[in-house]
Amino acid sequence: MHYHTIIIGGGPGGLACAATLARNGGNVLLLEKNPSIGSKVCAGGVSWSGLARNIPEQLIEKHFPEQYIHSAWQKIRLTSSHPIISTINREKLGQWMANEASMAGADIQTNIRVHTITDHEIVTDSGNFSYDFLVGADGSNSLVRRYLNVGTESIGIGFQYHIPGNYPKMIWHLDQKLFNTGYAWIFPHKERASVGAYSYRKDLTPSILRENLHHWMEKCGINRKDAKPEAATINFDYRGYDFGNRFLVGDAAGLASGLTGEGIYPAVLSGDTVAHRILNPDFDDSTLSGLIKKQKSHSRLLRLTGSNKIICKIVLESLVAALRMRLVNFNLLEMG
Ligand SMILES: Cc1cc2nc3c(=O)[nH]c(=O)nc-3n(C[C@H](O)[C@H](O)[C@H](O)COP(=O)(O)OP(=O)(O)OC[C@H]3O[C@@H](n4cnc5c(N)ncnc54)[C@H](O)[C@@H]3O)c2cc1C
Repeated sequence: MHYHTIIIGGGPGGLACAATLARNGGNVLLLEKNPSIGSKVCAGGVSWSGLARNIPEQLIEKHFPEQYIHSAWQKIRLTSSHPIISTINREKLGQWMANEASMAGADIQTNIRVHTITDHEIVTDSGNFSYDFLVGADGSNSLVRRYLNVGTESIGIGFQYHIPGNYPKMIWHLDQKLFNTGYAWIFPHKERASVGAYSYRKDLTPSILRENLHHWMEKCGINRKDAKPEAATINFDYRGYDFGNRFLVGDAAGLASGLTGEGIYPAVLSGDTVAHRILNPDFDDSTLSGLIKKQKSHSRLLRLTGSNKIICKIVLESLVAALRMRLVNFNLLEMG
């Protein structure tokens, strides 16, 4: 069967791309390997400057106009007149985005894993599909990226637990000794919180990151008994998104922030931009270019701080002090 555009992957990047193409009359097929759309290892934090203000209120679990940032030496509270970060449930976001894309006319098929790609065709267990344009929205271990021979070296890793209970505060814990350039978090949802830690994989091995997360949770009095650990990688090795009639979006393109691991908004923005580029090669991609500039500056800061423990500690403590004195805005850490 032939489609003008085939999108591999039904995360926020692929779904945003499918919706924009379909709304503009594109003939688009999206294939997702999971039986249903939406589930993903993720803390579900979305920034106001990125996605939070652009999605329906019913998708929001909790809004946080206050952010608590703890480091080894400081504890600060940032406030704003609007939510700085809000939390969303990834399943609900995925279902809503899938519904928007299908209503616009996109053909979304689940339970279909793409296992081979050729110049004009993709091969799945349910048959072959040919394309004019191919979009790799297949996450941080992207098959399309490998097919395009785009290497991946800069990878982050995140661990989390869903801890039942009502957690009132959104907390970021920066501690070089435990998480190096990364951090641990408490991101509260309606009846639970995502409690986890993120780090650059070159700085900390996954097993040390997990051990340190456990140690930190114990220190905070957070009981993880009965909670299931979840882990996944985050690709922040951006090397381009436009490869002729093939494109990469979101984690497949390495567009997440290496510093914070934020990747939902970069996925949505790149998915939408790629759809517009397919429809009109002269489309102005300056909003995405702005995000890429920020993403690269996060990677540079990560390389600078990760190279040396003392520099890392000084930079982290200076950052927290600068946030406290409002010399820098929290927006510096956001991708929006
Ligand atoms: C622990 C953790 C916490 C995080 N917390 C946050 C957060 O709070 N805020 C934030 O913004 N980001 C967060 N992220 C990052 C965020 O989850 C990702 O950046 C985001 O999901 C990227 O979206 P995407 O559409 O590019 O890819 P994904 O959401 O990974 O979607 C890719 C899809 O492609 C499908 N797929 C893959 N291969 C194939 C194939 N061969 N055939 C068919 N389908 C395929 C997958 O099943 C998947 O559904 C977190 C990540 C982790 C690991």
